[in-house]
Amino acid sequence: MAAEIYFDNNATTRVLPEVFDEMRPYLTDLYGNPSSIHRFGSQVSQRIDQARGEIAQLIGAGDSVEVIFTSCGTEGDNAAIRGMLEARSEKRHIVTTQVEHPAVLGLCQHLERKGYRVTWLKVDVDGMLDLNELREALADDTALVSIMYANNETGVIFPVERIGEIVRSKGIPFHVDAVQAAGKIPFSVKNMPVDLLTISGHKFHGPKGVGALYVRRGIPFPPFLIGGHQERNRRAGTENVAGIIGMGKAAEMALKHLPEDSEKIRALRDQLEALIAQSCPDSRVNGLRQNRLPNTANISFRYLEGESILVLLDQHGICASTGSACTAGSAEPSHVLRAMNVAPDWLQGAVRFSLSGLNTEREVAYVNEKLALIVQRLQGLSAMGKLATQQQAKPVTAAGSVGARG
Ligand code: PLP
Repeated sequence: MAAEIYFDNNATTRVLPEVFDEMRPYLTDLYGNPSSIHRFGSQVSQRIDQARGEIAQLIGAGDSVEVIFTSCGTEGDNAAIRGMLEARSEKRHIVTTQVEHPAVLGLCQHLERKGYRVTWLKVDVDGMLDLNELREALADDTALVSIMYANNETGVIFPVERIGEIVRSKGIPFHVDAVQAAGKIPFSVKNMPVDLLTISGHKFHGPKGVGALYVRRGIPFPPFLIGGHQERNRRAGTENVAGIIGMGKAAEMALKHLPEDSEKIRALRDQLEALIAQSCPDSRVNGLRQNRLPNTANISFRYLEGESILVLLDQHGICASTGSACTAGSAEPSHVLRAMNVAPDWLQGAVRFSLSGLNTEREVAYVNEKLALIVQRLQGLSAMGKLATQQQAKPVTAAGSVGARG
Protein backbone atom coordinates (compact mmCIF):
# COMPACT_ATOMS: atom_id res chain seq x y z
CA MET A 1 0.00 0.00 0.00
CA ALA A 2 1.53 3.33 -1.04
CA ALA A 3 1.18 6.37 1.22
CA GLU A 4 -1.47 8.69 -0.15
CA ILE A 5 -0.36 11.83 1.63
CA TYR A 6 3.05 11.64 3.20
CA PHE A 7 3.76 14.32 5.83
CA ASP A 8 6.34 12.30 7.77
CA ASN A 9 9.55 13.29 6.03
CA ASN A 10 11.58 13.65 9.23
CA ALA A 11 11.08 9.91 9.72
CA THR A 12 12.21 9.09 6.19
CA THR A 13 11.82 10.35 2.63
CA ARG A 14 10.93 8.86 -0.72
CA VAL A 15 13.92 7.77 -2.86
CA LEU A 16 13.80 10.01 -5.93
CA PRO A 17 13.58 8.21 -9.30
CA GLU A 18 16.88 9.81 -10.40
CA VAL A 19 18.52 8.40 -7.27
CA PHE A 20 17.17 4.91 -7.92
CA ASP A 21 18.28 5.05 -11.59
CA GLU A 22 21.80 5.90 -10.46
CA MET A 23 21.83 2.99 -7.99
CA ARG A 24 20.34 0.30 -10.22
CA PRO A 25 23.46 -0.64 -12.28
CA TYR A 26 25.40 -1.20 -9.05
CA LEU A 27 22.78 -3.73 -7.91
CA THR A 28 22.79 -5.58 -11.24
CA ASP A 29 25.71 -5.51 -13.70
CA LEU A 30 28.37 -3.49 -11.87
CA TYR A 31 28.64 -5.70 -8.82
CA GLY A 32 32.43 -5.61 -8.40
CA ASN A 33 33.98 -5.23 -4.96
CA PRO A 34 35.51 -1.75 -4.73
CA SER A 35 38.56 -3.19 -2.93
CA SER A 36 39.42 -5.53 -5.85
CA ILE A 37 42.50 -4.79 -7.95
CA HIS A 38 40.80 -5.57 -11.29
CA ARG A 39 39.07 -2.89 -13.33
CA PHE A 40 35.64 -4.39 -12.68
CA GLY A 41 36.12 -3.54 -9.01
CA SER A 42 38.18 -0.38 -9.33
CA GLN A 43 35.54 1.33 -11.49
CA VAL A 44 33.19 0.89 -8.54
CA SER A 45 35.75 2.39 -6.18
CA GLN A 46 36.06 5.40 -8.48
CA ARG A 47 32.29 5.85 -8.48
CA ILE A 48 32.29 5.71 -4.66
CA ASP A 49 34.85 8.49 -4.62
CA GLN A 50 32.59 10.54 -6.88
CA ALA A 51 29.81 10.06 -4.32
CA ARG A 52 32.23 11.08 -1.57
CA GLY A 53 32.78 14.32 -3.49
CA GLU A 54 29.01 14.86 -3.80
CA ILE A 55 28.57 14.45 -0.04
CA ALA A 56 31.52 16.77 0.62
CA GLN A 57 29.83 19.38 -1.58
CA LEU A 58 26.49 19.08 0.24
CA ILE A 59 28.05 19.70 3.64
CA GLY A 60 30.75 22.07 2.37
CA ALA A 61 33.74 19.95 3.43
CA GLY A 62 37.08 21.31 2.27
CA ASP A 63 38.34 17.87 1.26
CA SER A 64 36.35 14.76 0.37
CA VAL A 65 38.72 12.50 2.37
CA GLU A 66 37.09 14.05 5.43
CA VAL A 67 33.93 12.07 4.54
CA ILE A 68 33.63 8.50 5.92
CA PHE A 69 30.70 6.38 4.79
CA THR A 70 28.66 4.68 7.53
CA SER A 71 25.57 2.48 7.63
CA CYS A 72 23.23 5.16 9.06
CA GLY A 73 23.00 8.29 11.17
CA THR A 74 23.02 6.25 14.36
CA GLU A 75 26.35 4.69 13.42
CA GLY A 76 27.81 8.11 12.60
CA ASP A 77 26.75 9.49 15.98
CA ASN A 78 28.08 6.43 17.84
CA ALA A 79 31.36 6.43 15.91
CA ALA A 80 31.92 10.13 16.57
CA ILE A 81 31.21 9.98 20.31
CA ARG A 82 32.97 6.70 21.01
CA GLY A 83 35.86 7.74 18.77
CA MET A 84 36.48 10.95 20.72
CA LEU A 85 36.24 9.10 24.04
CA GLU A 86 38.84 6.62 22.83
CA ALA A 87 41.15 9.28 21.38
CA ARG A 88 40.97 11.30 24.61
CA SER A 89 40.74 8.37 27.00
CA GLU A 90 41.92 10.33 30.04
CA LYS A 91 38.83 12.60 29.77
CA ARG A 92 35.59 11.26 31.28
CA HIS A 93 33.08 14.06 30.71
CA ILE A 94 30.59 14.54 27.85
CA VAL A 95 28.38 17.56 27.21
CA THR A 96 25.15 17.09 25.27
CA THR A 97 21.52 18.25 25.45
CA GLN A 98 18.27 16.86 26.83
CA VAL A 99 16.64 17.00 23.42
CA GLU A 100 18.99 14.89 21.29
CA HIS A 101 17.79 12.04 19.11
CA PRO A 102 18.08 8.64 20.85
CA ALA A 103 21.14 7.91 18.67
CA VAL A 104 23.04 10.37 20.91
CA LEU A 105 20.84 10.45 23.99
CA GLY A 106 20.63 6.68 24.41
CA LEU A 107 24.37 6.27 23.90
CA CYS A 108 25.19 9.00 26.44
CA GLN A 109 22.83 7.41 28.97
CA HIS A 110 24.63 4.12 28.38
CA LEU A 111 28.02 5.81 28.87
CA GLU A 112 26.74 7.47 32.05
CA ARG A 113 25.90 4.03 33.40
CA LYS A 114 29.45 2.97 32.49
CA GLY A 115 30.88 5.72 34.67
CA TYR A 116 31.24 8.73 32.36
CA ARG A 117 29.98 12.08 33.63
CA VAL A 118 27.38 13.61 31.31
CA THR A 119 26.09 17.18 31.42
CA TRP A 120 22.60 17.38 29.91
CA LEU A 121 22.03 20.95 28.75
CA LYS A 122 18.47 22.21 29.22
CA VAL A 123 16.30 24.05 26.72
CA ASP A 124 13.78 26.84 27.28
CA VAL A 125 10.07 26.84 26.39
CA ASP A 126 10.95 27.50 22.75
CA GLY A 127 13.36 24.58 22.66
CA MET A 128 16.47 26.83 22.65
CA LEU A 129 19.73 26.32 24.54
CA ASP A 130 21.30 28.74 27.00
CA LEU A 131 24.89 29.30 25.83
CA ASN A 132 25.95 30.41 29.32
CA GLU A 133 24.96 27.03 30.63
CA LEU A 134 27.15 25.49 27.92
CA ARG A 135 30.10 27.74 28.87
CA GLU A 136 29.75 26.73 32.51
CA ALA A 137 29.53 23.04 31.65
CA LEU A 138 32.90 22.83 29.87
CA ALA A 139 35.58 21.38 32.15
CA ASP A 140 39.19 20.26 31.99
CA ASP A 141 38.09 16.64 31.60
CA THR A 142 35.48 17.26 28.88
CA ALA A 143 36.20 14.73 26.13
CA LEU A 144 33.70 16.14 23.63
CA VAL A 145 30.55 18.16 23.11
CA SER A 146 27.80 16.58 20.98
CA ILE A 147 24.87 18.82 20.03
CA MET A 148 22.35 18.39 17.24
CA TYR A 149 21.97 20.94 14.43
CA ALA A 150 18.18 20.73 14.09
CA ASN A 151 15.71 18.94 16.29
CA ASN A 152 13.88 16.05 14.64
CA GLU A 153 10.64 16.67 16.57
CA THR A 154 10.28 20.46 16.54
CA GLY A 155 12.70 21.48 13.78
CA VAL A 156 14.34 24.03 16.12
CA ILE A 157 17.80 24.93 14.80
CA PHE A 158 20.61 25.36 17.32
CA PRO A 159 23.25 28.08 16.76
CA VAL A 160 26.02 25.58 16.00
CA GLU A 161 28.51 28.25 14.89
CA ARG A 162 28.29 30.09 18.21
CA ILE A 163 28.33 26.81 20.11
CA GLY A 164 31.40 25.71 18.13
CA GLU A 165 33.25 28.94 18.92
CA ILE A 166 32.67 28.44 22.64
CA VAL A 167 33.70 24.77 22.51
CA ARG A 168 36.73 25.39 20.30
CA SER A 169 38.01 28.17 22.59
CA LYS A 170 38.53 25.38 25.15
CA GLY A 171 40.22 23.02 22.67
CA ILE A 172 37.41 20.45 22.97
CA PRO A 173 36.20 18.46 19.91
CA PHE A 174 32.69 19.37 18.77
CA HIS A 175 30.37 16.81 17.14
CA VAL A 176 27.17 17.89 15.41
CA ASP A 177 24.30 15.53 14.60
CA ALA A 178 23.15 17.15 11.35
CA VAL A 179 20.90 14.27 10.29
CA GLN A 180 17.82 16.52 10.07
CA ALA A 181 19.66 19.59 8.78
CA ALA A 182 21.52 18.15 5.78
CA GLY A 183 19.69 18.80 2.54
CA LYS A 184 17.13 21.05 4.28
CA ILE A 185 19.21 24.09 5.19
CA PRO A 186 22.49 25.24 3.62
CA PHE A 187 25.69 25.05 5.65
CA SER A 188 29.39 24.58 5.07
CA VAL A 189 31.51 22.73 7.65
CA LYS A 190 34.65 24.24 6.13
CA ASN A 191 33.61 27.62 7.54
CA MET A 192 32.25 26.34 10.84
CA PRO A 193 34.00 25.50 14.12
CA VAL A 194 32.79 21.89 13.88
CA ASP A 195 35.07 18.83 14.07
CA LEU A 196 32.71 15.94 13.39
CA LEU A 197 29.29 15.94 11.73
CA THR A 198 26.79 13.15 11.04
CA ILE A 199 24.34 12.85 8.16
CA SER A 200 22.00 10.08 6.93
CA GLY A 201 20.97 9.38 3.32
CA HIS A 202 17.31 8.51 3.86
CA LYS A 203 16.46 11.94 5.29
CA PHE A 204 17.10 13.73 1.98
CA HIS A 205 15.60 11.36 -0.62
CA GLY A 206 18.48 8.88 -0.63
CA PRO A 207 18.20 5.23 0.36
CA LYS A 208 18.04 3.84 3.88
CA GLY A 209 21.01 2.09 5.48
CA VAL A 210 23.69 4.57 4.47
CA GLY A 211 25.10 7.68 6.10
CA ALA A 212 28.30 9.66 6.38
CA LEU A 213 30.47 11.05 9.11
CA TYR A 214 32.58 14.13 8.47
CA VAL A 215 35.84 14.15 10.44
CA ARG A 216 37.88 17.31 10.09
CA ARG A 217 41.48 16.73 8.93
CA GLY A 218 43.82 16.53 11.91
CA ILE A 219 41.21 15.20 14.35
CA PRO A 220 42.49 11.84 15.65
CA PHE A 221 39.80 9.30 14.83
CA PRO A 222 40.12 5.68 15.99
CA PRO A 223 38.07 3.32 13.81
CA PHE A 224 34.65 2.26 15.02
CA LEU A 225 34.60 -0.95 12.98
CA ILE A 226 37.92 -2.79 12.79
CA GLY A 227 38.76 -5.26 10.04
CA GLY A 228 39.61 -4.48 6.42
CA HIS A 229 41.23 -1.35 5.03
CA GLN A 230 38.10 0.31 3.62
CA GLU A 231 37.53 4.04 4.17
CA ARG A 232 41.30 4.54 4.77
CA ASN A 233 41.21 2.19 7.75
CA ARG A 234 38.62 4.38 9.46
CA ARG A 235 35.57 2.14 8.93
CA ALA A 236 36.11 -1.47 7.95
CA GLY A 237 33.58 -3.51 6.00
CA THR A 238 32.65 -3.88 2.34
CA GLU A 239 30.87 -0.73 1.29
CA ASN A 240 27.12 -0.44 0.66
CA VAL A 241 27.98 0.51 -2.91
CA ALA A 242 24.50 1.19 -4.32
CA GLY A 243 23.50 2.99 -1.11
CA ILE A 244 26.55 5.24 -1.20
CA ILE A 245 26.01 6.07 -4.86
CA GLY A 246 22.33 6.77 -4.23
CA MET A 247 23.12 9.02 -1.27
CA GLY A 248 25.68 10.87 -3.41
CA LYS A 249 23.09 11.48 -6.14
CA ALA A 250 20.52 12.58 -3.54
CA ALA A 251 23.09 15.00 -2.11
CA GLU A 252 23.78 16.44 -5.56
CA MET A 253 20.06 16.94 -6.17
CA ALA A 254 19.39 18.36 -2.70
CA LEU A 255 22.16 20.91 -3.12
CA LYS A 256 21.01 21.91 -6.59
CA HIS A 257 17.38 22.41 -5.59
CA LEU A 258 17.85 23.55 -2.01
CA PRO A 259 17.09 27.29 -2.37
CA GLU A 260 13.84 26.94 -4.32
CA ASP A 261 12.78 23.71 -2.58
CA SER A 262 13.21 25.14 0.90
CA GLU A 263 11.17 28.24 -0.01
CA LYS A 264 8.41 26.11 -1.51
CA ILE A 265 8.38 23.77 1.50
CA ARG A 266 8.43 26.66 3.97
CA ALA A 267 5.44 28.25 2.21
CA LEU A 268 3.50 24.96 2.39
CA ARG A 269 4.40 24.46 6.04
CA ASP A 270 3.41 28.03 6.93
CA GLN A 271 0.16 27.60 5.04
CA LEU A 272 -0.55 24.37 6.95
CA GLU A 273 0.11 26.07 10.28
CA ALA A 274 -2.06 29.05 9.38
CA LEU A 275 -4.96 26.83 8.25
CA ILE A 276 -4.76 24.67 11.37
CA ALA A 277 -4.65 27.74 13.62
CA GLN A 278 -7.98 28.80 12.07
CA SER A 279 -9.70 25.44 11.90
CA CYS A 280 -8.50 24.12 15.28
CA PRO A 281 -8.56 27.05 17.74
CA ASP A 282 -7.29 24.97 20.66
CA SER A 283 -3.98 24.22 18.96
CA ARG A 284 -0.52 25.73 19.06
CA VAL A 285 2.89 25.31 17.47
CA ASN A 286 5.68 23.88 19.63
CA GLY A 287 9.18 25.33 19.26
CA LEU A 288 10.75 28.55 18.10
CA ARG A 289 8.92 29.96 15.08
CA GLN A 290 11.87 31.59 13.35
CA ASN A 291 14.97 29.42 13.67
CA ARG A 292 13.27 26.27 12.54
CA LEU A 293 13.63 23.77 9.70
CA PRO A 294 11.41 24.95 6.85
CA ASN A 295 9.62 21.59 6.62
CA THR A 296 8.65 20.88 10.24
CA ALA A 297 5.47 21.78 12.12
CA ASN A 298 5.00 20.32 15.59
CA ILE A 299 1.48 21.17 16.67
CA SER A 300 -0.24 20.38 19.97
CA PHE A 301 -3.99 19.94 20.26
CA ARG A 302 -5.11 20.76 23.76
CA TYR A 303 -6.48 17.90 25.90
CA LEU A 304 -6.19 15.46 22.98
CA GLU A 305 -3.87 12.56 22.36
CA GLY A 306 -1.54 12.73 19.40
CA GLU A 307 -1.74 8.97 18.92
CA SER A 308 -5.54 9.10 18.46
CA ILE A 309 -5.21 11.89 15.92
CA LEU A 310 -2.62 9.88 13.99
CA VAL A 311 -4.80 6.77 13.86
CA LEU A 312 -7.70 8.79 12.46
CA LEU A 313 -5.47 10.65 10.00
CA ASP A 314 -4.17 7.29 8.83
CA GLN A 315 -7.73 6.24 8.00
CA HIS A 316 -7.74 9.11 5.50
CA GLY A 317 -4.40 8.00 4.01
CA ILE A 318 -2.44 10.73 5.81
CA CYS A 319 0.94 9.87 7.33
CA ALA A 320 2.22 12.04 10.18
CA SER A 321 3.88 11.30 13.50
CA THR A 322 3.83 12.12 17.16
CA GLY A 323 7.05 13.34 18.64
CA SER A 324 6.96 10.62 21.22
CA ALA A 325 7.85 6.98 21.48
CA CYS A 326 5.36 4.33 22.40
CA THR A 327 6.78 2.18 25.13
CA ALA A 328 5.02 -1.07 25.95
CA GLY A 329 1.76 0.14 24.46
CA SER A 330 1.51 3.26 26.63
CA ALA A 331 2.03 6.64 25.04
CA GLU A 332 5.00 8.28 26.78
CA PRO A 333 5.12 12.05 26.30
CA SER A 334 7.96 13.26 24.11
CA HIS A 335 11.26 13.83 25.95
CA VAL A 336 11.78 16.93 23.79
CA LEU A 337 8.46 18.54 24.74
CA ARG A 338 8.99 17.61 28.38
CA ALA A 339 12.42 19.25 28.31
CA MET A 340 10.66 22.36 26.90
CA ASN A 341 8.28 22.28 29.87
CA VAL A 342 5.22 22.04 27.68
CA ALA A 343 2.20 22.18 30.01
CA PRO A 344 0.38 18.89 30.71
CA ASP A 345 -2.75 20.05 28.80
CA TRP A 346 -0.71 20.23 25.62
CA LEU A 347 1.89 17.53 26.14
CA GLN A 348 0.10 14.42 24.87
CA GLY A 349 -1.59 16.08 21.93
CA ALA A 350 1.46 16.79 19.80
CA VAL A 351 1.53 15.83 16.13
CA ARG A 352 4.54 16.37 13.89
CA PHE A 353 3.92 17.17 10.25
CA SER A 354 7.14 17.10 8.23
CA LEU A 355 6.96 18.03 4.57
CA SER A 356 9.16 17.60 1.51
CA GLY A 357 9.40 19.11 -1.97
CA LEU A 358 7.06 16.35 -3.18
CA ASN A 359 4.08 17.76 -1.22
CA THR A 360 1.50 20.08 -2.74
CA GLU A 361 -0.95 22.83 -1.74
CA ARG A 362 -3.85 20.46 -2.41
CA GLU A 363 -2.44 18.02 0.10
CA VAL A 364 -2.07 20.76 2.67
CA ALA A 365 -5.72 21.75 2.21
CA TYR A 366 -6.83 18.10 2.43
CA VAL A 367 -4.84 17.44 5.61
CA ASN A 368 -6.28 20.55 7.24
CA GLU A 369 -9.83 19.61 6.24
CA LYS A 370 -9.57 16.06 7.63
CA LEU A 371 -7.67 17.19 10.72
CA ALA A 372 -10.32 19.77 11.61
CA LEU A 373 -13.02 17.06 11.52
CA ILE A 374 -10.90 14.67 13.57
CA VAL A 375 -10.08 17.29 16.19
CA GLN A 376 -13.74 18.32 16.48
CA ARG A 377 -14.74 14.69 16.91
CA LEU A 378 -12.07 14.03 19.54
CA GLN A 379 -12.90 17.25 21.34
CA GLY A 380 -16.39 15.86 21.69
CA LEU A 381 -14.79 13.21 23.86
CA SER A 382 -12.57 15.75 25.56
CA ALA A 383 -13.92 15.13 29.03
CA MET A 384 -12.21 11.75 28.85
CA GLY A 385 -9.27 13.29 27.03
CA LYS A 386 -8.80 15.84 29.79
CA LEU A 387 -8.72 13.16 32.43
CA ALA A 388 -6.14 11.24 30.51
CA THR A 389 -3.87 14.17 29.85
CA GLN A 390 -4.08 16.20 33.04
CA GLN A 391 -1.78 13.87 34.93
CA GLN A 392 1.49 15.51 35.85
CA ALA A 393 4.34 15.21 33.34
CA LYS A 394 7.40 13.42 34.59
CA PRO A 395 10.52 15.62 34.54
CA VAL A 396 13.26 14.63 32.10
CA THR A 397 16.05 12.78 33.82
CA ALA A 398 19.22 11.52 32.32
CA ALA A 399 18.06 7.99 32.96
CA GLY A 400 14.49 8.62 31.74
CA SER A 401 13.10 6.75 28.79
CA VAL A 402 13.91 8.15 25.40
CA GLY A 403 12.67 7.59 21.94
CA ALA A 404 11.55 9.41 18.87
CA ARG A 405 10.45 8.64 15.40
CA GLY A 406 12.98 9.99 12.97
N1 PLP B 1 19.83 11.94 14.51
C1 PLP B 1 18.68 12.55 14.21
C2 PLP B 1 18.50 13.99 14.59
C3 PLP B 1 17.65 11.85 13.57
O1 PLP B 1 16.50 12.48 13.30
C4 PLP B 1 17.87 10.49 13.23
C5 PLP B 1 16.81 9.70 12.59
O2 PLP B 1 15.67 9.96 12.70
C6 PLP B 1 19.09 9.91 13.55
C7 PLP B 1 20.05 10.65 14.18
C8 PLP B 1 19.37 8.47 13.22
O3 PLP B 1 19.54 8.29 11.83
P1 PLP B 1 19.35 6.85 11.18
O4 PLP B 1 17.90 6.59 11.10
O5 PLP B 1 19.97 6.96 9.82
O6 PLP B 1 20.08 5.89 12.04
